[in-house]
Amino acid sequence: METQQIRKENDNSLEELYEYISSASNDGFQYINFQNGYSIISPKWKQLFEINDEENRYEQIVAEKICNEDRQKFLDKMQIIESHQETSYEIEYRIHEGRTWISHTGTNRYDENGEIIEKFSFFRDISELKEKQLELEYMAYFDNETGVYNRNYFVKRLERAVGKIPNSYNKVQVLYLDIDNYNIINDSVGFVLGDELIIKFAKMLNEYVTHTLKVGRFNNDEFAIAFYDAENDDSALQLYKDIIKKLEKPIELSDGSKVYVSVSAGIASYPSGGKTAVDLIRCADIAMYNVKQHGKNGMFVFEENMLKKFMKNVKLEQKLKTAVDTLGFMLYYQPQYFSEKKELRGVEALIRWQLANGEYISPGEFIPMAEKNGCIVNIGTWVIKHALADYAVWRREYGYEGIISINISAIQLREKNFKDTLLHYVEINNLSPEHIEIEITESVLIEDFESTISILEELRNRGFKVSLDDFGTGYSSLSYLRDIPIDTLKIDKSFVDTILLDDSTSIITDAVITMVKKLGLETIAEGVETEEQFEYLKNMHCDNIQGFLLGKPMPGEKLIELIMEENKRKLERTRYV
Ligand code: C2E
Ligand code: CA
Ligand code: CA
Repeated sequence: METQQIRKENDNSLEELYEYISSASNDGFQYINFQNGYSIISPKWKQLFEINDEENRYEQIVAEKICNEDRQKFLDKMQIIESHQETSYEIEYRIHEGRTWISHTGTNRYDENGEIIEKFSFFRDISELKEKQLELEYMAYFDNETGVYNRNYFVKRLERAVGKIPNSYNKVQVLYLDIDNYNIINDSVGFVLGDELIIKFAKMLNEYVTHTLKVGRFNNDEFAIAFYDAENDDSALQLYKDIIKKLEKPIELSDGSKVYVSVSAGIASYPSGGKTAVDLIRCADIAMYNVKQHGKNGMFVFEENMLKKFMKNVKLEQKLKTAVDTLGFMLYYQPQYFSEKKELRGVEALIRWQLANGEYISPGEFIPMAEKNGCIVNIGTWVIKHALADYAVWRREYGYEGIISINISAIQLREKNFKDTLLHYVEINNLSPEHIEIEITESVLIEDFESTISILEELRNRGFKVSLDDFGTGYSSLSYLRDIPIDTLKIDKSFVDTILLDDSTSIITDAVITMVKKLGLETIAEGVETEEQFEYLKNMHCDNIQGFLLGKPMPGEKLIELIMEENKRKLERTRYV
């Protein structure tokens, strides 16, 4: 092995040792003795620095080999060494345009006057180590799927930005984004393409990144954007508008499918929407959550009252989990009438929840909550159990022969024990399924069409009736009515409300009823409040009417009175015929 050595004066055993180190070491090695001029540069060092000529030209190496980014750091360190502030040092820098990382350690020896005597330097290639380190750092800072900041790092950076108010920064804002119905999209395209969609979405957001605008991923399909130093109060809003403009075009996936994506968004600004990073994110999230509750696909700016409402909801949600056990629920029943004869067709069971303080919480408020946290299954079972027990009493003891309608949430319907639970209560109450109607909404069909259809078919084969609730809201499409196994269609109150006011609604309602009849389905108009509406719907041959005009939801005891009156009326009618 070739070892370059310049010998000036006296040879000694130490020098032999250095030569040995120089040739045997895996690290690059340099030694200079300033007193006798002896120096040694190992072949490994030359290899590392890719130096062929015999000379070790310090300035050239600094200028040509050390990376621009690290050069000043290196020079500063050498300055410190030369001023004798440190005798041993360690510095890391990149050479060869960053291809190689060097760990450079050195020790200088000085005499009592501060004159340098000897200089030892070791150079180690730490590129692999650095790569691993960078990888670890990357994992610590970035979401490895999308490459945007991960949650922790996003929060940390935002904390730093908030800390710079008001000196360096003055407006910090957070825009929180959540892809609408991501689960449905994921179910329909499969998880691989679902992931791809997220990655493409993140990539689009990443294009907005500057040194004061950063993107972070919070949950699967939830992202936050931080403005460390927003230009004005509308910066986040403008960005939101820009994003939805981009989303007007579908996201194209690698299988060629095009997916239209909408987002729900919330904005919080310092200080009204939080004085810390965590609070800002939370408030933006709460504002986003409000959008979700108002039908998704929109944006809210955080306001104080949202926090109050949110806290109230959190408390309610906790109470909801125990309401089944604490007997907080009860059932009301609303009558449905045949429109021709105005006789009782059936009753719909509607759940009521009363808190310990007497306050009633509307099912419109707590059912979606229960669906979200999963306790809808327990609540739904409670409803089936009590509604069927009540119904059995009406039949057995009061001669009631009408129908009982029970609202079934999508989650409950798809729960694997649903059918068995239902059959169990039908059996123990000695009932027959023909009198029991399951009310489902269209959302049930949208999420998992095929499997829902088969569940509904099975129920109908068993003899249950199936009713499609709230027709006319949301996705209503006449074309699919043919394909779904239902017996009854409930025309939503929003339709009923406008039929007398709005020509187009009455034309549509008329068409719906005509077509539904052709399909052999029974119709029920919901939310009928006036005599005019009643007459109008009756003339359109809508089979049944439900609404405050004919009867509000009432407790079981009241319904029994109503049944008895009905019986009396029937009896009188037969007597006079
Ligand atoms: P829904 O199934 O569409 O029930 C009809 C709602 O309209 C009921 O509200 C009823 O009280 C109300 N209503 C009936 N007639 C009129 C009227 O003439 N005018 C007005 N303004 N309203 C009328 P409620 O009881 O507050 O229930 C709201 C929703 O909560 C129900 O809508 C249903 O989706 C859900 N829900 C109620 N009970 C249950 C249940 O046991 N299980 C499930 N999964 N959902 C339930
Ligand atoms: Ca209903
Ligand atoms: Ca309804």
